[in-house]
Amino acid sequence: MQQITGHEQNIAALKKVLESNKVAHAYLFVGPAGVGKRTVALAFARLLLCENIINGGSCFNCRSCRQISGGNHPDLHLIEPAGAAIKLEQIQQLQKQGYYRSYQGGRRIYLIPQSEVMTTPAANALLKILEESPAEMVFILTSSRPAALLPTIRSRCQQFWFRLLTIDQITAGLSASTSTELTKEHQHLLAVMSGGSLGRALALVNQDIQAGRTKVIAILEKATANDLVALLMEAAALATDRVLIEELLEFLPLWLRDVLVWKITKNKSLISNIDMLPEITKQARQYPVSSLVAMLEETELMRKHLETKGNVRLLLDVFFLKLADLSQHSKQ
Ligand SMILES: [Zn+2]
Repeated sequence: MQQITGHEQNIAALKKVLESNKVAHAYLFVGPAGVGKRTVALAFARLLLCENIINGGSCFNCRSCRQISGGNHPDLHLIEPAGAAIKLEQIQQLQKQGYYRSYQGGRRIYLIPQSEVMTTPAANALLKILEESPAEMVFILTSSRPAALLPTIRSRCQQFWFRLLTIDQITAGLSASTSTELTKEHQHLLAVMSGGSLGRALALVNQDIQAGRTKVIAILEKATANDLVALLMEAAALATDRVLIEELLEFLPLWLRDVLVWKITKNKSLISNIDMLPEITKQARQYPVSSLVAMLEETELMRKHLETKGNVRLLLDVFFLKLADLSQHSKQ
């Protein structure tokens, strides 16, 4: 299983499953979104179907491997949510297929990513299949919310836990998975922002990070200048654009944290926005530690308030006025 970022232990364990010829009937890959559960599930499916395993890994060259690369292996089935849920009809269809022999005489693999969105009838039907189906049918379920799965399904699956990736793993993953040229600083920043999810880091590649940071700096400057009118106008402009608000709430804590950490440690290796050190240094002189901590807390609180879908404009007004208030403490 080449080209996968992290999860070495799980990958080694899965290879062993095949080497020792102890392939289970059903697997459940559990862990946070975007860490690579689905990628490993597909690689495992490839390994289970490969006709010419080399050193415990798939060959990428046999008929099976080529069919998988082309997305048209007749014995590899992907069951994804139709709309918001995986529905009973989808599982029933699979049930019908299940009683035929495999097309190529080997295993039949059923990948069910996001398995937690199965409706209850669908889950019950799947349970029945898991209880009755022949050994050559192998199910690989993934889920970031396993508690939402039927306990009886969970207990029928062999479970593998997937952890968040480290910053180094994400940086390596970014180098391997994007064709976009990224500087080391940019990669590091994306890795920090991703919170351990390569999927999230990749989604951030095309985001305009500079614009996000410029916005943060502008808002903090207005707060420090106690320019309340400008802040309220900023709030009014932002209130209509949910994406921009979320972006702000993503960049702001990262920025404030950098200012705080730089103020306390003067250690460059701990700073995410390393390319903007002069600006960070300036702000570190401006704010006392207590203000930075309080601003970080307010940002976290704002994030929570926003989830409950209150009056966005009002929330932003209050949030910006609080930032201004906390900024003034430095001058007292
Ligand atoms: Zn192969």
